[in-house]
Amino acid sequence: MLARGKLVAVPAETVYGLAADATNPAACAAIFTAKKRPADDPLIVHVSSLAQAGQLAEWNPLAKTLAKRFWPGPLTLVLPRKSCVPNIVTSGLTTVAIRMPAHPLFKKVLQAAGVPLAAPSANLFGYVSPTRAAHVLAGEAFKKIRTGRANPAILDGGECPIGVESTIVRVVSQRSIQILRPGAISREQIKSAIAPGVRVTRPKPARAANVKPTAPGQLERHYSPQTATILRRVFPKKMSARDAWVHFRSGDTSTAQGENHFVLSPQGDGETAAKSLYRLLRDLDGRGYRAIQLQQVPSDNPWAETLNDRMRRAAAKS
Ligand code: AMP
Ligand code: MG
Repeated sequence: MLARGKLVAVPAETVYGLAADATNPAACAAIFTAKKRPADDPLIVHVSSLAQAGQLAEWNPLAKTLAKRFWPGPLTLVLPRKSCVPNIVTSGLTTVAIRMPAHPLFKKVLQAAGVPLAAPSANLFGYVSPTRAAHVLAGEAFKKIRTGRANPAILDGGECPIGVESTIVRVVSQRSIQILRPGAISREQIKSAIAPGVRVTRPKPARAANVKPTAPGQLERHYSPQTATILRRVFPKKMSARDAWVHFRSGDTSTAQGENHFVLSPQGDGETAAKSLYRLLRDLDGRGYRAIQLQQVPSDNPWAETLNDRMRRAAAKS
């Protein structure tokens, strides 16, 4: 199907992706249509080897260091593009985002396809990313490409082992990198892989309408349920029965009992919470709660930057 320019939903270690041949502009255009994704939101290109990644972008030693340390895995590198990358993939930017996924099924697909695959999350633009095949199957983006076709274009790899998106890093120079989107690889992990003199910054989101986002994930509202969602540092004493209350961990004195109370990770470990977050947001959405109340992850948790980013954006007003 990929060779014929069709879309296939594939499991990654992060979330499910909607994949197309990244060298086929028409196939990539179909991704934007299915997701209702704005054309100025570039796609991540997935590769099966460093040689393939070398054909798509200009590499420097710092970028190579990061790839060697974290690939295959949930780190996306934004590098100067080569001209063979179709414009539609990069939204006309001079850079391209590349990642080598670790999920065994995705790896097999990449090897069989023999081409790099563009694959954003397999959901309608702005909604919560899918972490199970059933999420993809139920979603509008997938229905759109499936209409009239006997063979559903989805590979079921079970639950995604990480559950949140990759960390996106722009390698600005040999001395400086920017974390465009926090993700499954923490800032500390990245710092520990590079020389201490390299500057690691996090640019402010480019929100002005005339500014092209350097990372589409920078849009303030993203990963959002339909139900009103509120992020709080601490929950109030009185918690309404009309709202769903999502606690980070159980056992806090503030943790209330009841069927409208949920826990991201009983032990309070970030990895488990990451794996639960999108599934829970999807489960709670459409259950008729007045609001979904999310509790911030304590800042000393290694996953705090990433999980609080996703929860903040799930709760951002459109
Ligand atoms: P997703 O829809 O979750 O796969 O998100 C794809 C992400 O790739 C976006 O959120 C962007 O942050 C990122 N991206 C892709 N291409 C580029 C690029 N050339 N420069 C910066 N970020 C990019
Ligand atoms: Mg997405």
